[in-house]
Amino acid sequence: MEYFEVIIVGGGLAGLTAALHLEQNGHAVLVCEKQQYPHHKVCGEYVSAEVVPYLKKLGISLDAHNIVSIDTMQLSTVSGKSIKGKLPLGGKGISRYALDNLLYESALKRNIPFVFENVTNIQFADDQFEVRTASGNAFSAKMVIGAYGKRSNLDKHLNRPFFRKKSHWLGIKAHYAYKDFPDNLVALHTFEGGYGGLSKTETGAVNFCYLVSYRSFRKENDVHGFNEKVVARNPFLCAFLENAEPLFKEPLAIAQVSFEAKETVKEHIIMCGDSAGLIHPLCGNGMAMAIHSAKLASEQIHCYLTDSIFDRDIMEKRYTALWKQHFGNRLWMGRQLQSLLLNKKLSHIALGLATRSPGLLRYLIKQTHGKPIL
Ligand SMILES: Cc1cc2nc3c(=O)[nH]c(=O)nc-3n(C[C@H](O)[C@H](O)[C@H](O)COP(=O)(O)OP(=O)(O)OC[C@H]3O[C@@H](n4cnc5c(N)ncnc54)[C@H](O)[C@@H]3O)c2cc1C
Repeated sequence: MEYFEVIIVGGGLAGLTAALHLEQNGHAVLVCEKQQYPHHKVCGEYVSAEVVPYLKKLGISLDAHNIVSIDTMQLSTVSGKSIKGKLPLGGKGISRYALDNLLYESALKRNIPFVFENVTNIQFADDQFEVRTASGNAFSAKMVIGAYGKRSNLDKHLNRPFFRKKSHWLGIKAHYAYKDFPDNLVALHTFEGGYGGLSKTETGAVNFCYLVSYRSFRKENDVHGFNEKVVARNPFLCAFLENAEPLFKEPLAIAQVSFEAKETVKEHIIMCGDSAGLIHPLCGNGMAMAIHSAKLASEQIHCYLTDSIFDRDIMEKRYTALWKQHFGNRLWMGRQLQSLLLNKKLSHIALGLATRSPGLLRYLIKQTHGKPIL
C-alpha cells in the first residue's frame, strides 16, 4: 500500500491550500478529489482580500488573471430599500472554476500527486490511517485532512451528528452576461425566504448565487418559476433578471446546506474548510475561512511531523482551540445577521439604522471577517 505523510481528502480551496502549504514545508502529500478540474461550484465567488498575502506566500497571485477588485457593498430588502458602503478590507471577484484551478495547476507544477476518485472509507488504527476509494484503491498515511466540503458520504460513515439533522437550505448559482454591473461592487439582495449575491468574475460574467429555504422554494419547485415569482419581487433582482442573459444551460443547485456545528477533529481526522463548519454565505467569508483553516491545520501537522515530542492528542487540541479562536465569533455573528436579514420587519429597521450610521455596516462586516492572513 502506498504511504504518504498526509492524505488530503477533497481538493477544494481548503484541500488544495493544505497541499501547497505542506508540500512547501517538505511533506509528502496526496490529494484525493472526486471531480476533475476545472469545474463550477455553487458559491458567491466573492473572496475576502484577507487571503491575498497568504496565497502570495504559496505562490498564487490574485492580482493577475483579470481578477476583479471589489471595494463596495450594496444591501437591499425585499421592498427595495437599499444602502451602499465601502468594504473595510474588500475582496476579489473570481469564479470557483478559475480559483480552484489556479491552485490545482500550482500543485501540479510542484508535482503534488492527485487521485481523482471518491473516497469511501477512512480508518485509523495503530497510529496510522488507511484511506479507501470507490474503486478499491487503498493508501496509508500518518495524517489525514478532511477537506471534503459541506456534506459527504464520509460524514455518514463517520457518524457525524450534523448529518442526521435535516437542513432547510438550498444553494443556487449561475453566470450571466450583464454589462451594466460595476466591477467593484458586491450586492446582496433579499427576497422571501432567502438572499442572493451579485458580483463580477474574471470573465466579465456576473455571478448570481442565492441561498433559499425549502419552505420558500417548494412553492414553485423550479428555479425559473421561483426567480420569476419570488426572487424578482425585489426590484434590484427584477431589473437584473429582466436584463441579464444566462450563460449556463441550467443553474447549478446544491441541497442540504447545513450550518450546524461540526467537530474540528473526528476520529483523528483534521477537518478543514466547510468540513469543519460553514459560515452563513451572506458574510462572504467561507472561502477565506477554508484557506485560513487549512493554514492553521498545516502548521500544526508540520509541528507534529517534525517534532517527536509533540503528540497527536496535543496537536488535535491545539488545532481545535485555534479554530474556535479564529472562527467562533464569525460564525456566531453570521448566524445573527442571517436571522436579521431574513426578517422582513427587522431588516427594514436595521437598514434604516445603517443608513443613518454608515459606520455600523462597516463594524458588522468586520465582525464576520478576519485580518489579512500572513
Ligand atoms: C450559496 C452559497 C454562497 C456562498 N458564497 C460565498 C462567497 O461569496 N464568498 C465566500 O468566501 N464563500 C462563499 N460560500 C462558502 C464557500 O463556497 C465555502 O465555504 C468554500 O467552498 C469551502 O471550501 P472547501 O474547500 O471547504 O469545500 P469545497 O470547495 O466544497 O471542496 C470540497 C471538495 O471535496 C470534494 N469531495 C467531497 N467528497 C469527497 C469524497 N468523498 N472524496 C473525494 N473528494 C470529495 C468535492 O468534490 C470538492 O471539490 C458560499 C456558500 C454557499 C452555500
